[in-house]
Amino acid sequence: MSLIRPLPSAPPAAAPDHLAALRGLLPGIAARAAARDADGAFPAEEVAALHGIGLLAAPLPAALGGDGLGTAPEGAAALCTALRLIGRASLPLGRLWEGHVNALRLVLAHGDAGQRAAAARDARAGRLFAVWNTGAPGEPPLRLERGPGGVRLLGRKVLCSGAGHVERALVTAIEDADAPARLVLVPLAVGERADLSGWTAQGMRASASGAVEFTGLALPEAALIGKPGAYETPPDFAAGAWRFAAVQAGGVEALVEALRDHLRRLGRGGDPIQAMRLGEAAMQAEAARLWAEAAAQRAEAADAGDAAVAFVGLARIAVERAAMEALALAERAIGLPAFLRPHPAERIARDLSTYLRQPGPDRALAGAAAHVLAAPAAVGDLWR
Ligand SMILES: Cc1cc2nc3c(=O)[nH]c(=O)nc-3n(C[C@H](O)[C@H](O)[C@H](O)COP(=O)(O)OP(=O)(O)OC[C@H]3O[C@@H](n4cnc5c(N)ncnc54)[C@H](O)[C@@H]3O)c2cc1C
Repeated sequence: MSLIRPLPSAPPAAAPDHLAALRGLLPGIAARAAARDADGAFPAEEVAALHGIGLLAAPLPAALGGDGLGTAPEGAAALCTALRLIGRASLPLGRLWEGHVNALRLVLAHGDAGQRAAAARDARAGRLFAVWNTGAPGEPPLRLERGPGGVRLLGRKVLCSGAGHVERALVTAIEDADAPARLVLVPLAVGERADLSGWTAQGMRASASGAVEFTGLALPEAALIGKPGAYETPPDFAAGAWRFAAVQAGGVEALVEALRDHLRRLGRGGDPIQAMRLGEAAMQAEAARLWAEAAAQRAEAADAGDAAVAFVGLARIAVERAAMEALALAERAIGLPAFLRPHPAERIARDLSTYLRQPGPDRALAGAAAHVLAAPAAVGDLWR
């Protein structure tokens, strides 16, 4: 018998009330998260359930069949909530959906009309997208060579979330050592070119963040999205970090929920020291949410610029700190059971600690500090 119970069937997605539909799916997704916690696992049914409520197409503009969730400034708050709610139920699923949203944003921002329409068709059909940028340390970056009628890829990427499951991968590749990277949209079949053997992380096991070998892959010219350097276009490149912070904030909420359940079950919540820990953990969950929401508003504003990037730099570190504080509080309050399967705090803590590791945290904080140092406004008015 399968350990994984079927998800409730999705309500019809006629009216795009994605958040209400998502809230209906979340208990089922959270209940399956423990069974998904295995090497090589991937939440395929959960991704299909997100598709069932229209969340794979929701980032598209209305003209392409979506409702601008995360691609229009007015969709920022709803996107932040969706990322947080999914992260709360399952951090690996949150990571996968965040990558899908990011890839669609990039294609919509930099692709031509034909590329945008094709990506929209694929998203509406339930194909999962991802952005794979990370190269293997010590190996040359993924290369792009011109050939008759198109391009060929040479090399591989690592830490590719959804490897073997993603059907549309937006990868960065170098055409010329001195030129900025190109974005290449690679169609993949399920199971193709993926190697999960190196994904030995303690947490986020169900994110299938493996290596993908691209050598020999030939693609038409139309696979190239945007101009060289499109991937790192400011402010989106750095400001987009708010989205992983929102997923992490959901993970903090899940951890504090597990801590509260534990204290209730054991009748230990009335102890003044445990109550103090729970209060502090609840403060951290709320701090993470408030930072993520404030960062979403600034990063997605139509006039977002350097100040938004600096604010997001502070926000991602503030969420990381809140998470690390909540992890320490949960460990101390729960004690050994927090390290024993199948206590939910054990898995959530492993997933959260792993997912907190994001690129260049020192650089993000130093960049924000440089903005604060140079800005003429009073400190209290810096982020207005
Ligand atoms: C679950 C998961 C899924 C992922 N999925 C994807 C994916 O789908 N696509 C993708 O492209 N990537 C993915 N990644 C990779 C991710 O984007 C980051 O590349 C990775 O997490 C970096 O982590 P790190 O701690 O090694 O970062 P680093 O940036 O190496 O930071 C480690 C430490 O070194 C410091 N540091 C960084 N640079 C320097 C420097 N030059 N000199 C001195 N110190 C430095 C940092 O401040 C930090 O203290 C994933 C990662 C995780 C955890």
